Amino acid sequence: MTVKIAESRDDWAAAAGALDLRNRAFVDGGFVDAISGETFDCVNPATGAVLTRVAACDAADVDVAVAAARRAFEAGVWSRAHPSKRKAVLLKLAALIRENLPELALLETLDTGKPIRDTLATDIPGAAAYVQWFAEAIDKLYDEVAPTAPGNLALVRREPLGVVGAVVPWNFPLDMAVWKCAPALAVGNSVVLKPAEQSPLTALRFAELAHLAGVPAGVLNVLPGFGPTAGKALGLHMDVDCLAFTGSTEVGKLFQIYSGQSNLKQVWLECGGKSPNLVFADCDDLDRAAEMAALGIFYNQGEVCSATSRLLVERSIADAFVAKLAARAGEVRLGDPLDPETTMGALIDERHADRVAGYIDAGKGTARLVRGGNRVTRGASGAFVEPTIFTDVARDAAILREEIFGPVLCVVPFDTEEEAIALANDSIYGLAASVWTANLSRAHRVAERLKVGTVSVNTVDAVSPATPFGGFKQSGFGRDLSLHAFDKFTGLKTTWIKY
Ligand code: NAD
Repeated sequence: MTVKIAESRDDWAAAAGALDLRNRAFVDGGFVDAISGETFDCVNPATGAVLTRVAACDAADVDVAVAAARRAFEAGVWSRAHPSKRKAVLLKLAALIRENLPELALLETLDTGKPIRDTLATDIPGAAAYVQWFAEAIDKLYDEVAPTAPGNLALVRREPLGVVGAVVPWNFPLDMAVWKCAPALAVGNSVVLKPAEQSPLTALRFAELAHLAGVPAGVLNVLPGFGPTAGKALGLHMDVDCLAFTGSTEVGKLFQIYSGQSNLKQVWLECGGKSPNLVFADCDDLDRAAEMAALGIFYNQGEVCSATSRLLVERSIADAFVAKLAARAGEVRLGDPLDPETTMGALIDERHADRVAGYIDAGKGTARLVRGGNRVTRGASGAFVEPTIFTDVARDAAILREEIFGPVLCVVPFDTEEEAIALANDSIYGLAASVWTANLSRAHRVAERLKVGTVSVNTVDAVSPATPFGGFKQSGFGRDLSLHAFDKFTGLKTTWIKY
């Protein structure tokens, strides 16, 4: 059934009822059950309802998918295809994602609890844009000729690595999958993707659309399943050449161990964050800064790796700024994700909501609660949490130091630029930061000294297919997006010719 963009919550709910959900693994060009026959519940966190039961893949399925990926790679049907062919196929895939926007947005919203207005406006169009960007780059990648002595020619070429394993989280399920798959496929690799167990639905539909677009059998395989089974098996597999991961720092560390215990596969990690947002008194639009500070922590229920969860604000404007911010938090419309008016939906599941609520409860003992702080039950679901703001936060408080991955903001005042930089860098993470100032010199000075992968000046969380995304410190290494993403998925081959 073709899904159309609906005007109301009820129309979206009706469309949801008529969806044909893909719930089996996609291996070697077709949907298959897990070899064990096991399945797991795929739950809508906003209602608690079981959407479908999804194949629970494990090590046996990983073996089959990796073998299919290897066969396709060695056959050269994709890996040695003319770049213009891979480009045409991936452009078709981008077009198919756009054609199926309402369906994919609905799947993402049902699976994750995030608002339909966001999946329609951002997640799914973003996925199409990322695929298109990498497709368009394919036939513009030149290799190198090294400077050598006369009578020698040294060619330095990028080659695809072979079989790429991708293990991704649930906060932007399709986008995170595409951030790995698009560049990996563009340069000719085969991919085995494991979506998060909380959010497998768009990845499965994506595999089907890729196949329809012309990605040959075996080149893109999707295995839904759990981390400690399917994810670990991919990490430990002796025939996976590269493992690209997005998720928590804790699990990222495991992938380095898996690599050391197996074939020393390359591992690339995009992990957690606790990103600072520095607001200086010389910012010339504090209303805008407050609006964006709220967006930076409350967008996507705060389930954003680069969420600006630490607000560092110059003391002279702190009270006025927090008042503006609290007003913005009051404008958040927490509710049914299928309602087009909703701006904040459910967290990914009740377990995660328990975790976020635990941080908030602990925070009430170490800081002053300015706004929110409550868990909200809607129908059978207890996965909703109010936008929450704390001030007067103790420097060693868990809410200030640990990634909460929910709509919880800590505000810390500072007196000098030096202190702001020190506070910002006082974290095990280094993913992103924002700086608000009208002083150009200060913007550059501060941006230079922040130990993070992306600094957004006078905005929050700027991102584009054309700019690298990733972190320093325990936020990981390697970069997604931009031409630099190809560094993850290619190896350099030098060929010397003597003449
Ligand atoms: P997670 O680390 O629990 O899970 C991520 C993926 O790893 C899932 O597919 C999961 O099944 C798998 N996994 C879990 N345990 C595993 C194990 N023992 N062995 C192998 N695989 C395993 O993370 P999450 O809760 O899904 O996502 C939230 C985290 O992701 C946050 O820390 C967030 O900051 C991070 N994240 C980072 C970025 C980035 O680009 N830096 C982007 C989005 C999310």
